[in-house]
Amino acid sequence: MSIASDRLEVIRKQVEEHLDHAEKHTLSDEQAEALRQQIKQRLIDEDAVLVAHYYTAPEIQALAEETGGCVSDSLEMARFGHDHDATTLVVAGVRFMGETAKILTPEKRVIMPTLDATCSLDIGCPIEEFGPFCDAHPDRKVVVYANTSAAVKARADWVVTSSIALDVAEYLHDQGEKIIWAPDRHLGDYVQRQTGADILMWDGACIVHEEFKARGVQDLKQVYPEAAVLVHPESPASVIELADRVGSTTQIIKAAQDMEQQQFIVATDQGIFYKMQQVVPDKELIIAPTAGHGATCLSCANCPWMAMNELETLAGAFDRTDNEILVDPAVGERAMVPLRRMLDFARQLKTGVLAAD
Ligand code: SF4
Repeated sequence: MSIASDRLEVIRKQVEEHLDHAEKHTLSDEQAEALRQQIKQRLIDEDAVLVAHYYTAPEIQALAEETGGCVSDSLEMARFGHDHDATTLVVAGVRFMGETAKILTPEKRVIMPTLDATCSLDIGCPIEEFGPFCDAHPDRKVVVYANTSAAVKARADWVVTSSIALDVAEYLHDQGEKIIWAPDRHLGDYVQRQTGADILMWDGACIVHEEFKARGVQDLKQVYPEAAVLVHPESPASVIELADRVGSTTQIIKAAQDMEQQQFIVATDQGIFYKMQQVVPDKELIIAPTAGHGATCLSCANCPWMAMNELETLAGAFDRTDNEILVDPAVGERAMVPLRRMLDFARQLKTGVLAAD
């Protein structure tokens, strides 16, 4: 299965519209500061907390930090929102992150700067096609990435994030289980090669990571021969092969901290540099190239949907009526099962005791 050309067209159109808007629309320092103050006040007035992803713009991440919110990966965002006392969660990220927060915390109001912020993996795996695909292979456990809709999660046996994907696949493989993997084919391919699991793959991709080029990374290594290469597993296999460390966003940040190298070529969304540079202020971070043969530069290592989380949309988020995340309670309840399974598995991994499912 692959992203149908009409859906790819929708993706291209959304990205172009966003880039067009971003080009025409820059704020003065005074306007930006006024919006920052307005958002801070509204967070207090609305008993709300701001939860931001590593890929959002630096000013959004800074606001989350300054107001007692959090900046993290999608799993930690959901955990943080769940555990926080605030009655409203403002999720700066993409739609599936808001949905995951709502599924885990149905009693809270979850709003986002814009519900147009989606993800090519989510778009590329609609439940209307994915459901029948699963039905056709009842002998396989259905493992879906967090970057999917609530309905797709509700159809799954397991939800995984990139930080736990290998462990879950290995566990299922050891149990003799065969797997359906969706939607990211690069992550699935990586997991298959690492674990040897029997995986039937859905054919989706992240438009940001898919554009990293092995040839470009090799050329950059000529310029920075001492640099270590850090790669997110949503990247193509040819780029992963060049990696000194492969990992999720949180694992990439930790690698920059733990490894002795002073320079890093990083193959993931460059929004991560805000947080990385905080933990390694003296190290040099270089974004992996997206140019080269076959490049469309749909993203240029900057997710267009994450970039829709702007100060203006965030400031307006409290008053609009079209930006609250709502999940059908029955779907949410069903999606909670594989999500809870992942959280329990992650906890068991930490303690070193894996119980049979
Ligand atoms: Fe989706 Fe890729 Fe954007 Fe993340 S960076 S939200 S996986 S399109």
